[in-house]
Amino acid sequence: MDDHSSPTTLTIPALRSGGVMLTYRCTNKCKHCLYRCSPQQVDTWMSLDLAEQVFAAMAREPQLRDVHIAGGEATLKMDLLADVIALAVRMGVSLSYLETNAMWCTDGDTARESFLRLARAGLPGVLVSASPYHNEFVPFVRTQTCVEAAIDVFGRGGVIVWIPQLYQALAQMPADRTNTLAEFCHAAGLSDEIGAVGRIYGLIPGGRVLDELRDCYPARPAEDFSSCRCDGELYNTSHFHIDPFGNLFTGLCPGIAAGKIGDLHPQITAENHPVFWHLATGGPCALMQWARDHHNYQPQRDAYISKCDLCTDIRRHLHALGGFEEIAPDTFYAN
Ligand code: SF4
Repeated sequence: MDDHSSPTTLTIPALRSGGVMLTYRCTNKCKHCLYRCSPQQVDTWMSLDLAEQVFAAMAREPQLRDVHIAGGEATLKMDLLADVIALAVRMGVSLSYLETNAMWCTDGDTARESFLRLARAGLPGVLVSASPYHNEFVPFVRTQTCVEAAIDVFGRGGVIVWIPQLYQALAQMPADRTNTLAEFCHAAGLSDEIGAVGRIYGLIPGGRVLDELRDCYPARPAEDFSSCRCDGELYNTSHFHIDPFGNLFTGLCPGIAAGKIGDLHPQITAENHPVFWHLATGGPCALMQWARDHHNYQPQRDAYISKCDLCTDIRRHLHALGGFEEIAPDTFYAN
């Protein structure tokens, strides 16, 4: 084990860079969404009180570089968003950007006015999502309007288009309507092979991908993942997220709360956080063995597309049983 752990206790390292999720609610239900955001998610938002606790905790992190504001789609509550940005600035937290899907950018003037308001509150930049997954919900003309308005307000250096190559490819599609993934693949010469888009985007085989895009991947028996470890992901604090309930997620592991806002670096033991413990010390097959031995778990599938697929299957079983503090929030498992 690395020096941040001991045989009996684990601790999450200092936070380095991450995001504050104001909500799981989104205008879209993108097939690739790791956090399973959608219009059906509970309409729960981070309160200003909780945001204050989050920023206070971040201000105590000695290695924290910057923080972005994310959703769901944070612009759904523009007033709250502006207040949260101003609060972060007042509390000395270094903001990097707001992440948005551009759905709200119906015209340039409105988009510019809103960005100006957020810039005055202290926002330094914007990340605009551009992908065939988003384009199933957001017409490209809105993505383009968002990018242009953001450049007007924040300058080119303050705007990230993610992913730029896919933005260029989407510009070749009908702009005033949405396009399906199959339509994009066909137009882009990807042989209607959805798996090819996955490779371009760098899909992570977790979250909603497990429901919507699992056919993009070959599947293997659970035991094939026995050599997979997860300490690298679970100790990775360079892209953490804190959700609207105050749960801390490290690495690319939504639904496993490594800490909570009251204590972002708890002393983790096999007794108080068994799910995190078994994943961090042995990987998903170690969790599977423990869940089989102690909680009557049986794999729900013959084969899994990734270690995170297996991990999610086990966590769903444990979540249904209840009583595991680190399996959170409920809304992640309910959808
Ligand atoms: S298997 Fe589980 S703990 Fe490991 S990286 Fe995937 S989601 Fe995270």
